[in-house]
Amino acid sequence: MISQWTDKGAEDALSQWGTDHGEDLALRVYTSRLIGADPELVLHGGGNTSVKTKVRNIFEEEIEVIFVKGSGSSLDSVTPKDLPGLDLSRLRRLRNLESLTDEEMVNQLRTRLLDASSPNPSVETLLHAFLPHSFVDHSHADAILALTDQPNGVELASEALGGSIGILPYVMPGFPLAQAVAEVVETSPDLSGVVLAKHGLFSFGASAKESYERHIHLVNLAEEFLSKRRNGKTIFTFARTPFKEEAKSNAAMAFPILRGLLAEKSFNEEGFKKVVGHWDNSVKTLEFCASREAETLVKSGPITPDHVIRTKKLPLFIDNPAWSDVETLRNQLSEAVHSYRNSYDAYFRKGQQNTAVIKDKLSSSPKVVLLNGAGALCFGSSYKEANIVADITQHTLATKALAQVIGQYESITDRELFEMEYWSLEQAKLKGARILPLSGQVALITGGAGAIARGIAIECTKAGAQVALCDTNKKGASQTAAEINHQMKGNYAKAIEMNVTNDESVREAFDETSRSFGGVDIVVPNAGIAYVERIEELSSKEARKVSEVNYIGVLNTIREAARIFRLQMTGGNVVLNASKNVFSPGQEFGAYSASKAAASQIAKVSAIELASLSVRVNLINADAIFSSGSVPSGLWDEVGPERARRRGISLGELPDFYKERNLLKTRVDAHHVGRAVVFFASNLTPTTGATLPVDGGIPEAFPR
Ligand SMILES: [Zn+2]
Repeated sequence: MISQWTDKGAEDALSQWGTDHGEDLALRVYTSRLIGADPELVLHGGGNTSVKTKVRNIFEEEIEVIFVKGSGSSLDSVTPKDLPGLDLSRLRRLRNLESLTDEEMVNQLRTRLLDASSPNPSVETLLHAFLPHSFVDHSHADAILALTDQPNGVELASEALGGSIGILPYVMPGFPLAQAVAEVVETSPDLSGVVLAKHGLFSFGASAKESYERHIHLVNLAEEFLSKRRNGKTIFTFARTPFKEEAKSNAAMAFPILRGLLAEKSFNEEGFKKVVGHWDNSVKTLEFCASREAETLVKSGPITPDHVIRTKKLPLFIDNPAWSDVETLRNQLSEAVHSYRNSYDAYFRKGQQNTAVIKDKLSSSPKVVLLNGAGALCFGSSYKEANIVADITQHTLATKALAQVIGQYESITDRELFEMEYWSLEQAKLKGARILPLSGQVALITGGAGAIARGIAIECTKAGAQVALCDTNKKGASQTAAEINHQMKGNYAKAIEMNVTNDESVREAFDETSRSFGGVDIVVPNAGIAYVERIEELSSKEARKVSEVNYIGVLNTIREAARIFRLQMTGGNVVLNASKNVFSPGQEFGAYSASKAAASQIAKVSAIELASLSVRVNLINADAIFSSGSVPSGLWDEVGPERARRRGISLGELPDFYKERNLLKTRVDAHHVGRAVVFFASNLTPTTGATLPVDGGIPEAFPR
């Protein structure tokens, strides 16, 4: 690991933040980002940093202040506002207390803030405040954890890092840890850092650069020691080397089954509280799952206590999944999940017996499932959360394996893990995520590059769903996905190549969606093409072409949806984007209207056949969707000129012509179709086989 500090980077930070926030805070932000950018130091919200400086208060008095990372931000992207300032002299007085409850500690921190609107300062704020140094950096560096997650971790750390560093055995974070670290440093004021065994590393310095570079130096010493100890030994011995391609089909089969097993019946009997998946198929993870060492290492806890709230105490590991038979695999996974939940419940009961405060049990389900032959299938209540779980898992497995090579991996005890998992301050980190109507659900939309799909995808993601935009035009679908992800500030949409007329391609797109998000819950057959011709001139060739997409494409899409729904066994929704033409056909639109009518009939038969799987199939009859916001519809680009000519109006007048035609005198937009999809997918009413017009009201197209 090399120092990423550059004078140019520091100057840039000073010119960006120095004037408004002062030199100290500007450089604090700079080196915090350097630490945050290295996943071998911290992951996502992990780690924290601080700086002590002076500011003028409202009375023009100079006071001592500490700026410390607040919760809810990640070091790699912090800005000055993510480091709330606190009155340092008041915090320092707490050092003399014998004890301090968590609740009072949080109260003390909040009431010492300089700005009432600041985020909560880190739970480690007092540890930072009690140290005399201006700059303090804390990480959960992989190398430090591989070194100290050992029965003799304290001795190994002292051997590896030398005398200028304090080393503490594991102490529960919070006030007791802050006191313990302060004591070590008060006794030996020249220390450049403190290692917390089985937790992480603190470094200190008089400047941002000094503290950061000491941090890197200490991690380097740990890395060198590990590599010497390892002495070229291979990390894993294999039962069988896994193949990437095999892992791909295995994951596609296992993901929907597992996701179904992990879904919990929600308060609303109509639905399930579902989880979203993220697949870690890195070579290291595949190797870990196939190694002989896995069996032992999966029985040990997280590499640092912070991770327990994300990954739970243990992963679920299956050494010999029945890849050759889906039903056997289902039974195997079902039994494994069942026994995982039982042992989690036993761990909870035991932990509760040792605790005075009554705790609410969290979900008993695993967050990480390791399958030999498929890698790590990671789960969270959102894609973002699942992604965090996957990143942590990848580092956890590599670090455990390395620790095992140089000695014997050992985590903190069950009792300590329980204390951490059920610590009110850790639980507070997970709160605040809004539950939306489609939270935890995955939507697959065909015709994903078009304007209507854009409207549907935007409404579904706003309602909390992950979205797969499937299209033969993957580039177009990617543009929409990128636009949505930019707007929503996260990864909510993904483009997947799919040709609805090709059985294999449809199957593969569904599998790819499963591998990307864990499964599929909402399917919107929306791909369609139009062709304008009188019956007398309509060739069978042209009619077939339209039918292939509008009718066979819908059949293919619903068939594959049913396959995934059957693996998940948690219901599902199909919402067909049919057409007002089904009830009210227009002239010269025979190929289109007939194919849409066929698709509607397929949807209705599906409603009958799939009801036993709790799958609902409904239809939307929209009319005259010219755009999704400012993005024009490709279908209307094609048929619009002909339509306008027939009606004796200009192309530009066409939208208003259709607006005047409906009862509500409304322009219908793709977002209206999207909202209708969200309504059906929310399971708010027990409805299947129904048609909802989204057309502004056209009497001849009323469903009957
Ligand atoms: Zn920590």
